[in-house]
Amino acid sequence: MSEEGFTIWFTGWSGAGKTTIAIALEEELKKRGIRYVQRLDGDIVREGLCSDLGFSKNDRNENIKRASFVAELLSKNGVATLVSFISPYRNLRDYARENCHNFIEVYVKCDKETLIERDVKGLYRQAIEGKIPEFTGISDPYEEPLNPEIILNTADETLFESVKTVIEYLDKNGYI
Ligand code: ADP
Repeated sequence: MSEEGFTIWFTGWSGAGKTTIAIALEEELKKRGIRYVQRLDGDIVREGLCSDLGFSKNDRNENIKRASFVAELLSKNGVATLVSFISPYRNLRDYARENCHNFIEVYVKCDKETLIERDVKGLYRQAIEGKIPEFTGISDPYEEPLNPEIILNTADETLFESVKTVIEYLDKNGYI
């Protein structure tokens, strides 16, 4: 039996929860019998496919173009594709929307105070000290999604609740 592919595009600040939610969602989809699930993690893609790119606006845009190219190949061939990239620019997320099969934008939202408190990778402290230029939210812009299919507020909800919201959306819209 073939499965309907889709692209779930997680966007949001560093540390907001994109990767954590994508990993938990992948597990949940597999539990429900979805065989073809692929995650594209921004940090990992930047080590390989996009290792020539930095964080200027042009490089960030190129990063998203490459990710959406891969996401499209996967999703049009029946793969549940989970993309977690900061993807700070609205026009590039719209580019991904136009180019990816069954695109679902998920805004992983978290307030700045909570992110600085979490500081999972120790990057906020360094960015605030001026040691990381072009750091989203501190020294680089993030354009909030205007009409995302889903918003997850990770400061207020548990990981379980965030995953449940996405699963319910997929279920309601006939993807799973
Ligand atoms: P990102 O991929 O957006 O950079 P990560 O997933 O790497 O973010 O880190 C998010 C951090 O926030 C993790 O340490 C995770 O345990 C924590 N966290 C707290 N609440 C939530 C939630 N509701 N959803 C996802 N992550 C959460």
